[in-house]
Amino acid sequence: QAKQIGSNRYHMFDVSLHEETRAGHQTLERIRIAMLQGELCLYYQPKVNLRSGQVIGFEALIRWQHPQDGLVLPPDFLPLIEQSELIVEIGEWVIDQALQQIEQWAEQGMALPVSVNIAAPHFKNDVFFDRLNTLLAQHITVPPRLLEIEIVESAALGDVAEVGKVIATCQGLGVTFSLDDFGTGYSSLNYLRRLPVDTLKIDQSFVRDMLDDEEDLALVEAVISLARLFGREVIAEGVETADHGVLLMRLGCDIAQGYGIAYPMPAAEVVAWVQHYQPEPQWKLWSDLKWELCDLPLLVA
Ligand code: C2E
Ligand code: MG
Ligand code: MG
Repeated sequence: QAKQIGSNRYHMFDVSLHEETRAGHQTLERIRIAMLQGELCLYYQPKVNLRSGQVIGFEALIRWQHPQDGLVLPPDFLPLIEQSELIVEIGEWVIDQALQQIEQWAEQGMALPVSVNIAAPHFKNDVFFDRLNTLLAQHITVPPRLLEIEIVESAALGDVAEVGKVIATCQGLGVTFSLDDFGTGYSSLNYLRRLPVDTLKIDQSFVRDMLDDEEDLALVEAVISLARLFGREVIAEGVETADHGVLLMRLGCDIAQGYGIAYPMPAAEVVAWVQHYQPEPQWKLWSDLKWELCDLPLLVA
């Protein structure tokens, strides 16, 4: 440490920091082993069109089936590796798994898009485009439009012009892009203008609370309008009840995802789930009615 700070000085050895760093390495190593030993897997959560009642795709969400701890969720292990090379390896593994899954479902007669989440440090990595291209080439039967990439808009993405260029180059391959957790991060309007993403995903915290909180409702409404004005698709996550769905449809957002539709599920359950999916009856009731934004005050009243 003393040498790193510039030599010719001393630095006190910090035992607790040393232990922390070592523990960090151990966890990182443990997660790498988890990947190599097949303890990681993808769960899939459906996205549906509330108006038509159709299932329109799935989001792949990583899970760690820990031999002792059971099912570990991504917020409990991904942040530990976000700053390491492992985030790239796991991200590529996720893309590869999703492509394999799309292939398998196609063989069973189901051709639905799958989105994968890519961490900012992975997306910013120089090799991202080349590796994506290689992975798509390894799954030649998968139409690239069935792969969607979700990135979280945040300061971590860095230079918007650069990011915009990478997105556009990848779109040249046929894949599509969503801006995840939209509204929680950077989101200046200029930022949105310069990122050629296909879809905005309204953050689940706004959606969940919009029935009771006017400000959350205003934010949801604003994102839907923004998407419309900028010519992007919009999807709401965090749809936990039928009422959430009704309000979203009335606000002009027909695509939704959330526990109220289905929890993320293992790949093996997906085909049967799609076959048996029954939309909420309330959504059918509203499906023929379109509201204009100028009707909103009346609607809220
Ligand atoms: P996300 O991409 O925004 O995914 C949505 C998260 O919300 C998922 O949590 C999902 O299970 C949860 N969720 C879905 N519907 C509802 C709902 O109605 N109510 C509530 N309260 N939650 C809902 P999960 O699977 O724990 O993932 C958390 C985050 O971890 C994801 O947020 C994503 O940012 C990240 N993540 C997940 N899988 C991957 C991956 O393969 N790679 C990377 N880099 N990040 C991932
Ligand atoms: Mg996501
Ligand atoms: Mg999200």
